[in-house]
Amino acid sequence: MSAKRKKKAVQRHPQDELLRTDRLPHIWCPGCGIGTVFSCVIAAIQKSEFELDDIAMVSGIGCTGRMAGYIKLDSFHTTHGRAIPFATGLKLAHPEGCVIVASGDGDLLAIGGNHFIHAARRNMDLTVICVNNFNYGMTGGQLAPSTPFGAKTTTSPVGSPEEPFNMCALAASCGAVYVARWTALHIRRLTGSISEAMQKPGFSFVEILSPCPTSFGRRNRIRNPLDLVRFFHERSVIRNGIDPQDAVLDFNKNLVVGTFVDIERPTFLDNYQLMNRRELGDWPTLEPKAFVPEEQASS
Ligand code: SF4
Repeated sequence: MSAKRKKKAVQRHPQDELLRTDRLPHIWCPGCGIGTVFSCVIAAIQKSEFELDDIAMVSGIGCTGRMAGYIKLDSFHTTHGRAIPFATGLKLAHPEGCVIVASGDGDLLAIGGNHFIHAARRNMDLTVICVNNFNYGMTGGQLAPSTPFGAKTTTSPVGSPEEPFNMCALAASCGAVYVARWTALHIRRLTGSISEAMQKPGFSFVEILSPCPTSFGRRNRIRNPLDLVRFFHERSVIRNGIDPQDAVLDFNKNLVVGTFVDIERPTFLDNYQLMNRRELGDWPTLEPKAFVPEEQASS
């Protein structure tokens, strides 16, 4: 046996350039939707016009939060619920950059709920991606603010007595300029939506309904990952442009997905610059006494 065996060249995947392969294998369970969403995020980043050095990802805690650890960008894995304030600081320090927040439903809408509504109100220029798996997957499957009414979790063994958040309606009512919802099956549409959200100045929100067979599915008679995928496939209907208030998530009805909001309004940084323009001189003051109610003005 004198001839040395030739080493086989390892083929690289086109998305490898954005993966910290030294961190692999990842922690996500077989059949979980987060890996698919992660792939869509990477595809959107690769398609975007931003330099990679100008893109950062921030996450909090939870299964989705691991994305920030696996991506080869400036990325930050912050404390539970604190991805948005951390991302806000990053954006203010580097306004030309694109900051993506990758978060789960518990992290974003429970522990981080207050930050979410105020970042949307301010129209902070962030791209917020929420993987909604309807429970706290990583910590054992507890009830979350996204758990569907009647669904079983470790802390609601006979079924959730609570109505879940309609995250899209919440984001829109607080002032988000871009709001969309897809499932982890809508690969192309989801990738397109993330791209649009990245380009959009202001607070953009993309919710992704994702299978969590390990913690959610097995307590709700959809234990097999394939059954969950089939469930999303059969139930989801696309209704672009509808009022997100009409896109209530109810497992006994169709799952409404689509791009619901795409509007323009000044971002926080637009307003901040307006208020701090040198040529304005003194800071503008409000003059409530000068206000005349419309009825009086017309009489
Ligand atoms: S617990 Fe659920 S959400 Fe977390 S990795 Fe497993 S399947 Fe995915």
